[in-house]
Amino acid sequence: MKVRLKPAIVQAHRWFLYAPHPLVRPLPVGAWGEKLCTSCNYAMREHGYAVGLRGTLRCCPGSWVIEGKDVTVIKDWAFREEYDEVVEDGT
Ligand SMILES: [Zn+2]
Repeated sequence: MKVRLKPAIVQAHRWFLYAPHPLVRPLPVGAWGEKLCTSCNYAMREHGYAVGLRGTLRCCPGSWVIEGKDVTVIKDWAFREEYDEVVEDGT
């Protein structure tokens, strides 16, 4: 059987340390804080994490935090591919 995911309107917030989100905590700066992320190559001290239903999610600088029934974190390139902005006409 072929199916299609039902569309849903969700909240999205682009995350940086200087643009915090209540569901994302900065990573504790420890011995590995100066190490580079294997995913984005920025220092780990510039990262955060969120906890969703599927566990702990790494939040790289510039990632998008998506809030629907669950919280998820996706890279900017994936966000641009998968989401369109909902423009409300105000009527
Ligand atoms: Zn990263």
